[in-house]
Amino acid sequence: MGTTVPHPTFPSTSVLMNDRYRRQKAFVEVGEAGQQLLANSRIAICGMGALGAMVAERLCRMGVGFLRLIDRDWVELDNLPRQALYTTEDAIEIRPKSIAAQTHLMAINPDILLEPIVEDLTFQTAETRLCDVDCIVDGTDNFETRYLLNDVSWKLGIPWVHAGVVGVSGQSMAFVPNKTACFRCLMPEIPPIEQMQTCDNTGVLGAAVGVIASWQAMEAIKIVLRKDVAGDGFLRVFDLWEGEVRKIRVPRSPSCRVCSAGLYDFLTGDVGTTARVLCGRGAVQIQSSGRERIDLEVLAERLRTEGGVFASRFLVRFSIPPHSVSVFSDGRAIVHGTENPDEARKIYARWIGG
Ligand SMILES: [Zn+2]
Repeated sequence: MGTTVPHPTFPSTSVLMNDRYRRQKAFVEVGEAGQQLLANSRIAICGMGALGAMVAERLCRMGVGFLRLIDRDWVELDNLPRQALYTTEDAIEIRPKSIAAQTHLMAINPDILLEPIVEDLTFQTAETRLCDVDCIVDGTDNFETRYLLNDVSWKLGIPWVHAGVVGVSGQSMAFVPNKTACFRCLMPEIPPIEQMQTCDNTGVLGAAVGVIASWQAMEAIKIVLRKDVAGDGFLRVFDLWEGEVRKIRVPRSPSCRVCSAGLYDFLTGDVGTTARVLCGRGAVQIQSSGRERIDLEVLAERLRTEGGVFASRFLVRFSIPPHSVSVFSDGRAIVHGTENPDEARKIYARWIGG
C-alpha cells in the first residue's frame, strides 16, 4: 500500500497559475505566444545588488522561465535601503545574495527555475556561466566585469543589457551583437580610477535604482519577445533629481577591438585585475593591467572626504578599520586586513573603483 497523500484544502497552485499572467497577456505585444516565449527563455543576471535583485524580481514575476543569479557577495544592513528583495534577517544571517534571492523569488513565483551561483565572474568562468542563456543582465558594480560581459556577448552572440547608477543618476543601453555598437565602442578603455565615482563615495538612492532597474528589465523583456525592436542603439542617461532623460546615439567604432576586430582582451586574462594573497602579511595584492598610470594626488583628494588618507609621492593609503588599501601609481594595490582574494577585490572595487 502506498502512502496516502492528503487532499489539499486550498485551491491547487495550478488553478491559481492559470490566472497569474492574465493582465500582461492582455497587452498585445505579449499575448499567449509572448507569455510562452517568456516561459521558455533563459536570462543570466550578473550581480545581485540593487539593480540585479530588482531586475530579477521583475523578470520572475513576469514568468521568465529560467534565471541564473550570479553574485560573490552577501547581504549587509546598508544594502537594504535600495536592494528591495532582501530583508533584515538576510543581513543578520549574512546570507549570500544569490541564495537569499532564490528563497524570496521562489516564494514569489514557484514556476520559475532558479540557479543561484555564489562566485565572482572571471575570465575563466564567464563563458561557461553565460553560454546557454538568451540575454545577460548587467547588475555589476565595476567596469572590468562589464568589459568581460561585452566580450562574452560578442563572442557568443548573446545580447546584454547594461545599466549603472550612482547618486541619483544612471544610464542604460541594450547591446545586441551584429546590430548595435558594443560597450567598448562607448568606452574604449577602463576609465582611470581617480576619476571614478562609486556608490560608496557618491552615495545612491533606492528610488533612482528602481527606475533604472525597471528600464533594464523592460529592455531584457524586449530582447526575448521582440528582437526587431530590442537594441535601438541609444544610450539613455537619467538625471532623476532634475527629472531628465537624455538619449545619445552610440555609433559603431570602426577601430573597436571587440565588435570590429573580434579581439576579446578581457577573456584572455592578460587584461584586468588579478588578486594574489601575500602570505603571512594578512594582505592581498590587486594588480590591474590595461590601465593608465594613476594620478595619486587626484585619487587622494577624492578619498579624503571618505576616511583616513595618507598620501606620499609613492602611494596613497586609505583606511576604514579593520581594512586599508594602499594604491601605487602603477595601478597596483595592496588590501590589508584580509587574506581572502574575493573580499579584497570587493573592498578595492567599493573604495577605489573597479
Ligand atoms: Zn565595439
